[in-house]
Amino acid sequence: MQTLSRDFKDELRAKANASLQRHYKNLDAEARSIKHDPPSGEMLASFTTHLQSSNRILVLIGAGLSASSGIPTYRSAGGFWRTFSDQQLAKKSAFEDDPILVWQFYDYRRQQAKAALPNPAHHALAEMAARKPGLLSINQNVDELCQRAAHPAGQIINLHGSLFRVKCFDDACGYEEENHAIPVIPQFPATEPPRVPDSTNTSSSVSGVSIDDLPHCPKCKVSLLRPAAVWFGEGLPEDKVNQVEQWMRGGSDASEDEKVDLMLVVGTSAMVWPAAGYIGRARKAGARVAYFNMEEKSAGVARPEDNDWMFLGDAAELVPKAFEGFLSSVGN
Ligand SMILES: [Zn+2]
Repeated sequence: MQTLSRDFKDELRAKANASLQRHYKNLDAEARSIKHDPPSGEMLASFTTHLQSSNRILVLIGAGLSASSGIPTYRSAGGFWRTFSDQQLAKKSAFEDDPILVWQFYDYRRQQAKAALPNPAHHALAEMAARKPGLLSINQNVDELCQRAAHPAGQIINLHGSLFRVKCFDDACGYEEENHAIPVIPQFPATEPPRVPDSTNTSSSVSGVSIDDLPHCPKCKVSLLRPAAVWFGEGLPEDKVNQVEQWMRGGSDASEDEKVDLMLVVGTSAMVWPAAGYIGRARKAGARVAYFNMEEKSAGVARPEDNDWMFLGDAAELVPKAFEGFLSSVGN
């Protein structure tokens, strides 16, 4: 009886997710198919002039940057693995229910990130950071593509953690380390193609893996290790938020934000906090704002203003194009 009802539930979920997936696929295709006019020469010239005189630059990086490298935007539409959405597996309760399944999901995401390559925008941002020591990137992506593009390590804060770090499931233990193993445990498949929803493949028990096989914390020797990525319902890591705070205050104990010259918003509609908040604060601290996004969809304090630059389209093309005037004029 129990098996029947579980199969039935799986089937229902698969059907519901298949229809959602089709819907999101269409939405994604729609967004990417909109042809935007290329930025005008006038717009590029005014951006380059401002960039040349900018020292303190804050960059907010979102999923749209990695989408151009073929990594699905798991935080929003279209991010499905087997029959699951990101929202179903990237959370503490899912790990408590079935850590094998959650680790398989993250193993798959590691494979996907490892197979992807940094795109020209990742490289352009890394080069800009190297030329502008006062630049700080707040990265919301967990794929490490910025790092692989050699973005200076001291100038990037991985606000949502990394697919390639693990930490103890018990917060009180506090253990964390780098971990690039693929597969995470030998029993997982070495390569796993993305699947369309398939109700025969929803249970972790088919893989013949037991909880004892999963990575355990070497410090407390009790808890499992989990991906050190921020899950739904969790707060942002305090030390990282503090690092951004430090930068906003100019590295001193000042009670007010230091002047910011330029804010770049790349591949994110920045509609969630605290991301949206950083745009508002940078603006207040004097920054002009440039958006690089597929669509003009922002709200609240992240809403574009008349004085902003709006580069609409694929970030992988637009960021290098916008930086070209500056990068080709220095260091030669
Ligand atoms: Zn531990």
